[in-house]
Amino acid sequence: MITLEGKRAVLTGAASGIGRATAELMAELGAAVVVADVDEAGAEVAAGIEKAGGRAAFVRTDVSRADDCARAVATAKDRFGGLDVLFNNAGIIRRSTVTEITDDDWDLVMAVNVRSVMLMSRFAVPLMEAAGGGSIINTGSGWGIQGGARAVSYCASKGAVVNMTRAMAIDHGASGIRVNCVCPGDTATGMLAEEARQLGEPAEAFYADAADRPLGRIGQPADIARMAAFLASDAAAFVSGAVIPVDGAGTA
Ligand code: NAD
Repeated sequence: MITLEGKRAVLTGAASGIGRATAELMAELGAAVVVADVDEAGAEVAAGIEKAGGRAAFVRTDVSRADDCARAVATAKDRFGGLDVLFNNAGIIRRSTVTEITDDDWDLVMAVNVRSVMLMSRFAVPLMEAAGGGSIINTGSGWGIQGGARAVSYCASKGAVVNMTRAMAIDHGASGIRVNCVCPGDTATGMLAEEARQLGEPAEAFYADAADRPLGRIGQPADIARMAAFLASDAAAFVSGAVIPVDGAGTA
């Protein structure tokens, strides 16, 4: 039922974790993908997709910079003829309270997690309008829906992404552009290891209570990728403005 044949997609944060899994799945389902990431490892992700018979291009992109975002979106037009899907997925975390966080870290989290969604979408929307519509998928978080300890900037940023999703869905629906937000729960990526490092805990601590989770495990990147691919597809034609936890009932 789900195909992305003929779709052109830009995915941020696609060098690793959830973004990488989604780029690979979208390519497998027929989309041409632009892998946009500040990490040059994205070049290997794009090369791997091409080797497997898909179409991909890597653009080194710092999503907090408008010129980089413009170049990432322009690559979809130049290489693949237009843009149908935008996955706003790049993100970072700082594990700190309001009394611990520095001004610079606050600004960085907001720039990478929130301003990026505005910048990428600003450049993507005109191309989607030209294509007669499109799908924007934002990566929120369970911590955009509920609070979490010692992650105040991250929780604020993901709350912003959740409500930006609704505002954008209203603004651009008449152009045939759907905007949705996927909210992962704990997912086995480099971000979890980075959180453990910041908190000075062993990475295994984040997996230890898996037995207490409703489905008995944390998420894998492929769990999130499948939801993003569905939202990108025409099978989700009437899904817009939705905030969808993909967390094994974690927020339930
Ligand atoms: P990850 O660290 O594997 O991937 C994040 C990617 O974003 C990396 O490839 C990194 O290079 C890239 N990135 C960071 N700063 C960037 C910048 N300035 N410009 C461009 N790219 C940049 O982690 P992940 O878990 O795959 O994270 C993907 C998204 O999922 C993030 O938005 C994250 O907040 C969200 N999320 C993750 C979890 C989890 O438990 N892993 C839970 C909820 C939400």
